[in-house]
Amino acid sequence: MTSVPEIQIADGVRIPQLGFGVYQVPPEATEEAVTTALEVGYRHIDTAQMYGNEQGVGDALKASGLNRDEVFVTSKLNNGFHRRDAALRAAEQSVERLGGPMDLFLIHWPLPTIDVDYLETWQAMIEIRDAGLTRAIGVSNFQIPHLERIIAETGVTPAVNQIEVHPYLTNEAVRAYDAEHGIATEAWSPIAQGAVLGDPTIAAIAERLGRTTAQVTLRWHVQRGDIVFPKSVTRSRVEENFQLFDFELTDEDVRAIAALNRDHRTGPDPDTFDYIPA
Ligand code: NAD
Repeated sequence: MTSVPEIQIADGVRIPQLGFGVYQVPPEATEEAVTTALEVGYRHIDTAQMYGNEQGVGDALKASGLNRDEVFVTSKLNNGFHRRDAALRAAEQSVERLGGPMDLFLIHWPLPTIDVDYLETWQAMIEIRDAGLTRAIGVSNFQIPHLERIIAETGVTPAVNQIEVHPYLTNEAVRAYDAEHGIATEAWSPIAQGAVLGDPTIAAIAERLGRTTAQVTLRWHVQRGDIVFPKSVTRSRVEENFQLFDFELTDEDVRAIAALNRDHRTGPDPDTFDYIPA
């Protein structure tokens, strides 16, 4: 069994660098998908209030027989709950669905064009952590000005920033800011929802190493120091995506894959995204 490295993200909090994401896993299929991931060996699950499947994650954890402190669980505050009181209530509901305190809780989107100030939301996140509802707090989809503002105003630096990163969107400026400020970068849609899997540069490296293009891409993230949690509900792929720690890319491979960047987003632009679920 390959062992997954851990990264220190806050005082006493360590996160496995590889996890399992459940975006777009239907609620009724989530318990089974997470059970499979835990059987394969994943010990880090990434969910969100917006995905509607926290209960399935909680049910799988309970059924697994694992101690709650053996699995790292992240959830994210939904966009409609940015005001202080709503954020606290929403965090309590996540804890209930997940069957215990979270390890990491993130503001899912900054919503900078919306009338609720994400600074109020970040202050609420600090309260949520201090109340013991989560061990660490962070943000997702925060751009540099958003990070600068919450750090300057509160003196509290997010433990992580979860942003879209893959070979077609290397997001270097935000990653560099994160690194300079001790913020761990989590790379969402690490294989660009499959869009990079047919890339000829990645395919040539994969062929040389006798690996799949998904494994090479995920290994590239790992060697750059980012945290990843690919999503799949197919057991063979869940297994494939876990086999990343028994081979290595050369520095030249890492550079060649980074050079594929074309600033292509598969998801929304954080500066303009303003979706609030009904
Ligand atoms: P991903 O890059 O992990 O790609 C998932 C897609 O690739 C699925 O369709 C899957 O079937 C396919 N796939 C997975 N492994 C494969 C393999 N080995 N071979 C071939 N195809 C494979 O995309 P994602 O699900 O969007 O992102 C991963 C996780 O990131 C999500 O589950 C979620 O936890 C997180 N995420 C966060 C945000 C955010 O705003 N914070 C946004 C999107 C995703």
